[in-house]
Amino acid sequence: MMAGLLFARAGVKTLVLEKHGDFLRDFRGDTVHPSTLELMDELGLLDEFLQRPHDEIRTLTGRVADEKITIADLSHLPVKCKFVAMMPQWEFLDFIADKARLYPAFSLRMNAQAVDLISDQGRIAGVKLADGSEMRPRLLTISADGRGSILRAKSNLPLRDLGAPIDVLWFRLPKGASDFRETGGTFGSGTFIVQINRGDYWQCAFVVPKGAAAELERRGIIAFRNDVARAVPDLADVTGTLASWDQVKLLSVSLDRLDHWSRPGLLCIGDAAHAMSPVGGVGINLAIQDAVAAANILAARLAAGDNADDLLEKVQDRRMLPVKLVQGAQKLVHDRILTPLVVREAVLDKVPFVLKLFKYLPILRRIPARVVGLGFRREHIRSPEA
Ligand SMILES: Cc1cc2nc3c(=O)[nH]c(=O)nc-3n(C[C@H](O)[C@H](O)[C@H](O)COP(=O)(O)OP(=O)(O)OC[C@H]3O[C@@H](n4cnc5c(N)ncnc54)[C@H](O)[C@@H]3O)c2cc1C
Repeated sequence: MMAGLLFARAGVKTLVLEKHGDFLRDFRGDTVHPSTLELMDELGLLDEFLQRPHDEIRTLTGRVADEKITIADLSHLPVKCKFVAMMPQWEFLDFIADKARLYPAFSLRMNAQAVDLISDQGRIAGVKLADGSEMRPRLLTISADGRGSILRAKSNLPLRDLGAPIDVLWFRLPKGASDFRETGGTFGSGTFIVQINRGDYWQCAFVVPKGAAAELERRGIIAFRNDVARAVPDLADVTGTLASWDQVKLLSVSLDRLDHWSRPGLLCIGDAAHAMSPVGGVGINLAIQDAVAAANILAARLAAGDNADDLLEKVQDRRMLPVKLVQGAQKLVHDRILTPLVVREAVLDKVPFVLKLFKYLPILRRIPARVVGLGFRREHIRSPEA
């Protein structure tokens, strides 16, 4: 959607296809990072954007062995908005779509599922849709269809699977009597639960070993409620609101990337080019940065009506480094923290030394804040406005 906005803004006739009829799904993360908020500011949209319902998160907290430790503090970031805006993704996408529609070059088609690529003399010439129709853009097809990307699969671009030892069970719980209100994670013995403060409710992520969800579902919702209450005792008074397994969504985690993000006529961006783990909650940010880089590099050429196939690799050249750095960090967290803790069920009965450092040296909290809030090689809007 962001790529659609930026290309249309530059005067490139752009059609965004979305397979669903609306954006009303709450399992893709709700985080709008300081770097994305900066982009909103550069587009002159920030004030209006912040009028949409959102919560502001300024610190991230870890709870281990009954101790609360602030591990990220965004208040020192050198940007206008020193917080992560938690905005339901449908609000965010609706906002971007509304702003994109102001440009005559933009259109959005809902209920339009791409099922295959069209090849024409070795070049990708568009997509086939589930209803049998075809879309043949004159200049470029962008695959931004997420981590299960069908277009990436059909492109035969080689995929490097980095492996992910975890899956996530995603559910909501009302706020209970506890006065704990901070967004963050609770490390227990063999468990890790992330709680995101969403006003009157918690969005919770229960991290489980890959493939373990089927057994948890078989044990039933009451056993699951008990698991949650054991992992985070101050949620015990609200777990009863989980009445059935339908309230728990399994999100299968993948960590992978393409070695080549493009073929003549086709460019993959976002999770389609590099599926991100939820660790750090930065995948949306990276996808948006890809869109900005793609528009910066390609929009002027496309707006002139010229083929930009020779520029496609430049988008990958620009974005591969941040992707590798973030995926490397996510893999480190998978291997060094989540595998011992959740997969091998290590017992954590005292605060690990590394976390203690964050307690006694608050300046360290700026490092995760910077990585999560701004990422690496930050993009700025350089594409033209027609
Ligand atoms: C459990 C979990 C939690 C996460 N939490 C966070 C978080 O808090 N913060 C964060 O930044 N990241 C988070 N992530 C990562 C984040 O969801 C992704 O990195 C990000 O959404 C990628 O954006 P995207 O636009 O590339 O793909 P997506 O957000 O997946 O968007 C792809 C879009 O394409 C549509 N689509 C798919 N296939 C087709 C098709 N064939 N035809 C037409 N349309 C199609 C989809 O309906 C969707 O709207 C999380 C990931 C997981 C697994």
